Amino acid sequence: MATERIYNFAAGPAVLPVPALEEAQRDLLALPGVGMSVLEISHRSKTFEAIIGECEANVRKLGRIPEDYHVLFLPGGATLQFSMVPMNLLPAGAWADYIVTGTWSDKAVKEATKVGAVNVAFTNKAENFVRVPKREEIKLTPGAAYIHIATNETIQGVEFHKLPDFGDAVVVADTSSHMFSRPLEVAKYGVLYAGAQKNLGPAGVALVIIRDDLVKKAAQNRAYAGLPVMLQYGTHVQEKSLYNTPPAFAIYVMNLAMKWLIGIGGLEAIEKINERKAGKLYAEIDRTGYYKGHAAKDSRSRMNVTFRLPKEELEEKFIKEAKAAGMDGLKGHRSVGGLRASIYNAFPEAGVDTLVAFMKEFEKKNG
Ligand code: PMP
Repeated sequence: MATERIYNFAAGPAVLPVPALEEAQRDLLALPGVGMSVLEISHRSKTFEAIIGECEANVRKLGRIPEDYHVLFLPGGATLQFSMVPMNLLPAGAWADYIVTGTWSDKAVKEATKVGAVNVAFTNKAENFVRVPKREEIKLTPGAAYIHIATNETIQGVEFHKLPDFGDAVVVADTSSHMFSRPLEVAKYGVLYAGAQKNLGPAGVALVIIRDDLVKKAAQNRAYAGLPVMLQYGTHVQEKSLYNTPPAFAIYVMNLAMKWLIGIGGLEAIEKINERKAGKLYAEIDRTGYYKGHAAKDSRSRMNVTFRLPKEELEEKFIKEAKAAGMDGLKGHRSVGGLRASIYNAFPEAGVDTLVAFMKEFEKKNG
């Protein structure tokens, strides 16, 4: 049977690096020297301890993560972090500032509101989340327990190209859909979290990077002891993400993806590639005005490129014909409509070139 790979533009789960898949495939029946599959070994075995340890070391190396930050591999995706963050960091009597720039940060607010007091410091829902705010548009409340921000909105395709200056405030960032797509300064954040299934690995695990003083501070809150043990950051810090049976295979493949990223030159190298890939697509979107980008130019995401065609019928035709030409996952999220090309780290540049050529041809025939 043919097993040729097509171009997968899906927003997540998304394309993974081929060398990572090849190694996983090669070693799936038996890890070298172990004689058992990674799917079968105990999470308490030396072998798995080495795998999760190596994954952490690679994440630390890639992100140049300072010593006073913990690197955790947690279940529940980024969505559980919408709840864990306020449960741990938003005690009674305190409040948090939330910046809402798209569907995901909007969901984060909804979960936080169930736990404690929330101030929406910025939202542009009324303008359909087409851009990220300027610093002066964000109305922070001094003394907030933390500021929550989604640095790339996957559905709308809007991205903060630089973290706004929040001074010494504790910044909690949902970086799910552009984590490790460019260098980042971890010290500017209190917490970073990302569901793995876009830029880091397979579904089933979320990467959480949290500063040590926040873990300690959380444990001092009166309500903390009453939290389910799985929802306390301290549990996972103390047990090194092995309190219960972790998503071992997802962590294993994430490690292979991290090795691949280090191998191609790390975050500086991948940023250049990502800039180039996104640049080609946006240049085509802007070339004639036939295609219209959803995001304002200064807020355009390098990972999720959202755009529309003149008519919905044409969008449907485009998606159908693109699929027949070996390009899948281009349908935009229903809340935005149109098309979305997700071009994460592992998405090959040749796939972007193929899409650009297809766009030119489609416009010629249907424009
Ligand atoms: N935040 C962002 C920015 C996302 O893109 C997603 C998933 N699409 C989520 C949160 C939710 O992630 P998960 O499915 O891992 O819970």
